[in-house]
Amino acid sequence: SYVLGIETSCDDTGIAIVDTDGRVHSNVLYSQQEFHTRYGGIIPPRAQDLHRARIEDAYKRCLVEADIRPEQLTAIAVTNRPGLPLSLLVGLRFARHLARKLQKPLLPVHHMEAHALQARMEHISAISFPFLCLLISGGHCQLAMVHGPGKLTLLGQTLDDAPGEAFDKIARRLRLYVLPQYRAWNGGQAIEHAAQSALFPDAYDFPLPLAQQRNCNFSFAGIKNNSFRAIRARERLEHTPPDGIISNYSDFCAGLLQAVTRHLMHRTQRALEYCLQPANGLFGDASPTLVVSGGVANNDVIYRNIEHLAGQYNCRSYRPFKRYCSDNGVMIAWHGIEQLMANSAGNLRFDYQNIDIQGAAGFRDSSVED
Ligand code: ATP
Ligand code: FE
Repeated sequence: SYVLGIETSCDDTGIAIVDTDGRVHSNVLYSQQEFHTRYGGIIPPRAQDLHRARIEDAYKRCLVEADIRPEQLTAIAVTNRPGLPLSLLVGLRFARHLARKLQKPLLPVHHMEAHALQARMEHISAISFPFLCLLISGGHCQLAMVHGPGKLTLLGQTLDDAPGEAFDKIARRLRLYVLPQYRAWNGGQAIEHAAQSALFPDAYDFPLPLAQQRNCNFSFAGIKNNSFRAIRARERLEHTPPDGIISNYSDFCAGLLQAVTRHLMHRTQRALEYCLQPANGLFGDASPTLVVSGGVANNDVIYRNIEHLAGQYNCRSYRPFKRYCSDNGVMIAWHGIEQLMANSAGNLRFDYQNIDIQGAAGFRDSSVED
């Protein structure tokens, strides 16, 4: 079967067709990044207009590229939570209209769950349920046990910022965008690249967040505020002009990346130890598996370090192909396939009007305090 996936939760209009074997038949993605960076952030009504302007075209291109007729689709999957309500609405309305016209079931998709399940599209035989997932993106930072679509247990999450958000804000404050090679990049990418040319990667020191807390939560506000303070101090020292950049920005980026990596490792280690305790038996008989996903999983320094850590617990690590780590329609379509596989009894939804958006929707909570 073929599932069409529609993603409009934030600033990317993504539509894709994926089949049961995880083959991607087409993947259309219109990014709004260049519009929003000009204004220093996403303006929701503007994002909505851009989704509206492009969604029909994305759908048509998607069918043409896949060489598939609409009647051949088994179902329509669409992100309905969490995200910017105005953006979510565009995708949901379009999906409802399509599903009704074609008389196909409509599958609502939780955006973070789609990030979490995406690695299975490429490694279906290696990643079985349940697995531990570290979700690191522009809006979230979560550790969860994944038992199947719709069955995630949250072990911890950020108390303030998300790591991608912190990278983006710090990169903007650092004014990395004045360097031509970084103008079109997102903050995380620019920081990862700049860090590679550091001469003194230990020049900047960041404390480990939540070092004393015995849980799996995260916090990036301290790292962010420390960064702002350190950048300001350096700018004063060097008399950096208002549109300039500190001379040792590479050293700073290396220190920042190292601090974020250490924090992510610290919390992931705790989650691994918790899940592997026989009393908790969260992996059951399955061999322990860790999946790292979301836009920040693109980062090789972060992923390699997490992978190494997991290896010390005999736990194998995976992440989606890089092109599917950040938002796209493929992961929504794949989540639809996962729903079909989990739901072979066929209790599929034709109650289109009852599927609605939910701006901020969380997972079930399971605290890891002790
Ligand atoms: P969410 O999924 O939480 O709703 P989002 O969909 O906006 O948020 P994603 O598209 O998953 O987020 O990821 C975008 C984020 O990933 C950006 O904040 C960006 O800085 C970060 N990112 C992308 N590439 C890298 C990289 N190489 N290193 C670090 N961060 C990166
Ligand atoms: Fe996302």
